[in-house]
Amino acid sequence: MSKTRVTIWNEFIHEKQQGPVADVIRTHYPDGIHNALKAELSAPDLEITAVSQDMPEQGLPQELLENTDTLMWWGHVGHSKVEDSLVDRIQKRILEGMGLVVLHSGHYSKIFRRMLGTHCSLRWREVGEKERLWKVDMEHPIAQGVPDTFEIPHTEMYGEPFGIPPEAHVVFMSWYEGGNVFRSGVTFQRGAGRIFYFSPGHETFPIYHQPEVVKILGNAVRWAAQSLPPAKTNCWDQDPPPEKVFSRNPMDEIDTSSLHKKA
Ligand code: ZN
Repeated sequence: MSKTRVTIWNEFIHEKQQGPVADVIRTHYPDGIHNALKAELSAPDLEITAVSQDMPEQGLPQELLENTDTLMWWGHVGHSKVEDSLVDRIQKRILEGMGLVVLHSGHYSKIFRRMLGTHCSLRWREVGEKERLWKVDMEHPIAQGVPDTFEIPHTEMYGEPFGIPPEAHVVFMSWYEGGNVFRSGVTFQRGAGRIFYFSPGHETFPIYHQPEVVKILGNAVRWAAQSLPPAKTNCWDQDPPPEKVFSRNPMDEIDTSSLHKKA
């Protein structure tokens, strides 16, 4: 059986900063969130590559993208530094069938907003409160082996309204100690590609070491790797009519083919 090829991309900025906040982040993720996730998700059926924005071609050369079944994305303060040409290349791969798993503050990443076409904004609050997640779609592959409900003891609140398209399929819903609610695990499909967004993962808490979260993300990379039937992504040539057209074309005397030539 061929392995599922997972590439974990991290902007890798917070972990390298100076000061007491970064010191806390490094206690949870000494080699960066990407390498911590790689270690947690390690499994015989997965071939995982961890990359970061400070690497050549921002960590995602075309050859790696073409050999990725699911791309996982963690970004926050560096969203605007991601090159638009890279976003174009990732979008193309997703439409062709590559999976995308977007984490936490990646809700505002260029690639997530590009794929969804909405503003993706949300309420937020950083007071270290408790979060309780609930499975909403009990049968979904990403929810398998996950408790019906579980707590994250300390988290950053992400609250509704979440500016995502109305067709979002909700797999997990969160309630926070401070009273807010949020669609914390949602799926989409774009072209032949599957997309999953999961909100827990604020960098100052060891959320990516929590077993329930690791289980969800492991399920998600395997689910997203399965492409939908390939969609035709460029238009057909002028279509011959399946039935005879009797109407006289008022433009019959003039060759209109130049209208369809690229400028
Ligand atoms: Zn955060």
